[in-house]
Amino acid sequence: MINVKKISKTGSVTIPATIRRKLGIVEGDTFQIEESDDGLVFRRSRGHCIFCGTDIGIKYFKKICVCKDCVNKVKEMF
Ligand SMILES: [Zn+2]
Repeated sequence: MINVKKISKTGSVTIPATIRRKLGIVEGDTFQIEESDDGLVFRRSRGHCIFCGTDIGIKYFKKICVCKDCVNKVKEMF
């Protein structure tokens, strides 16, 4: 199914309810938005690094969200 949506004055686009339900998207979920050759790609963010705040390269350690760069910086300390 193809959905056509208008972008609002503030840049918002509504994800159709059928897609939100199917993918389990709920209010407050965050997404990474990347440009691609043929448009935009939305990927659900899995959380933000507790140290630097990035949502790229995230891993969980004992329920704490940490990015790969910060893990490497901590490793360098020991
Ligand atoms: Zn980090």
